[in-house]
Amino acid sequence: MSMRVDLLVVGAGPAGLLAAATAAEAGRSVCLVDDNPSAGGQIWRSGIAEQNPEGLRLLRRLEAARAGMRFGWRAVAAPSSRVLRLEQSGQFADVEYSAIILATGARERFLPFPGWTLPGVYGAGGLQAFVKSGFDIRGKRVVVAGTGPLLLAVAAHLREAGARIVSVVEQAPLARLARFSLGLLRGQIGKLIEGAGYALHTAGIPYRTGAWVTSASGGERLENVTIRSGSRILEVPCDMLAIGYHLAPNTELPQLLDCDLHAGYVRVDELQQTSVSGIYCAGELTGIGGVDKAKVEGRIAALAACGQADRAKSLFRDRDRHRRFARHLDAAFALRDELRGLAMGSTLVCRCEDVPYDALAECGSWREAKLHTRCGMGPCQGRICAPAAEFLFGWKPPAPRPPLFPARVETLAHSTDRTA
Ligand SMILES: Cc1cc2nc3c(=O)[nH]c(=O)nc-3n(C[C@H](O)[C@H](O)[C@H](O)COP(=O)(O)OP(=O)(O)OC[C@H]3O[C@@H](n4cnc5c(N)ncnc54)[C@H](O)[C@@H]3O)c2cc1C
Repeated sequence: MSMRVDLLVVGAGPAGLLAAATAAEAGRSVCLVDDNPSAGGQIWRSGIAEQNPEGLRLLRRLEAARAGMRFGWRAVAAPSSRVLRLEQSGQFADVEYSAIILATGARERFLPFPGWTLPGVYGAGGLQAFVKSGFDIRGKRVVVAGTGPLLLAVAAHLREAGARIVSVVEQAPLARLARFSLGLLRGQIGKLIEGAGYALHTAGIPYRTGAWVTSASGGERLENVTIRSGSRILEVPCDMLAIGYHLAPNTELPQLLDCDLHAGYVRVDELQQTSVSGIYCAGELTGIGGVDKAKVEGRIAALAACGQADRAKSLFRDRDRHRRFARHLDAAFALRDELRGLAMGSTLVCRCEDVPYDALAECGSWREAKLHTRCGMGPCQGRICAPAAEFLFGWKPPAPRPPLFPARVETLAHSTDRTA
């Protein structure tokens, strides 16, 4: 099966939804693709129609403008120039496009520490998503830890769902967080109010700054976490640990399409165009900055792709304000050096292929680690261990190769140029 469109949008989070709606309303033939069964991305993930009026309005706009939508389809390869291959449960489809907007978002960053693979240890956003999809967390004692603004949002949500939040543990020092909050007074009042709302919803929960989980322990499953807080070591009994170290952008698809990166993000110009003509990026891919940045970048990218640069320019000021916020986030929640020393020799770094820290410590590069240990070659294809290895050893992961996700042989057999 194959199809041809003016504009292909990959990722139906806030950035992709705004991009697709803007382009479809400008009269372009559009196809919006996402690997989740419904639109919404990370923030509106459990079915935006029921959950979020803004998302619902966007879907209605897309339907009214007759945009094509393919949910549950995943972009896995680029068989030739301006063609993307999608896969869904063994079926595949090629979409030929004149321009493409990549809005594939971000994932949580995990760092290894003793006990991080014990049952009961979750990604912070992962546990939130689990609860959003119906997991009953009532009465559970939960420690929320790591770094980033997501921690307070997760703690507020889990508490509302009935969890007993024992503590929120933020590795960034208080002075940095205070500077960050003060900085929000300049042009980011909305974010300040949002943060204050989370603070209100988490009132009474111990919030430790400059603190981090050094290990998790238990028999069959998690029973206790050890926290370093300044010079003190605290033992905290709990049923669950929700932990994540801010977010890492999903740059695999842009890299497959030869787009340049800068400081870990996709490099774009004022019009959100990447280093490759006709390929645009929007949202977390260009800097972790939240939903408002994603939305305005989606609109700019779509207007630019539709040849309406003048209209796009009117949005630059707003976009630049959100870009500044993204830079402040990166600085405020930069990871402290001590986190590099948490893993013991036997601590797994790549949990798909069971590769411990000491096996990696003998390697000199990501490539060598892959060859000698199979690190990053399991089902997640390095999505979890590569950002960890980059932080621990300073290794730059090589450009990804197709398929971006495990795919059936038939899907690849029809490939040409890029799929070897
Ligand atoms: C786990 C998690 C939880 C979060 N929780 C909150 C929260 O509670 N509050 C908050 O304000 N912000 C939260 N955020 C941040 C928020 O999600 C983002 O700021 C916002 O959603 C960014 O929008 P986006 O459109 O750039 O990306 P996203 O919303 O992430 O959308 C990207 C979409 O692209 C899809 N995709 C990726 N690769 C492919 C591919 N190859 N083929 C097809 N589809 C693909 C993804 O499945 C996803 O649906 C969270 C982020 C994460 C990672």
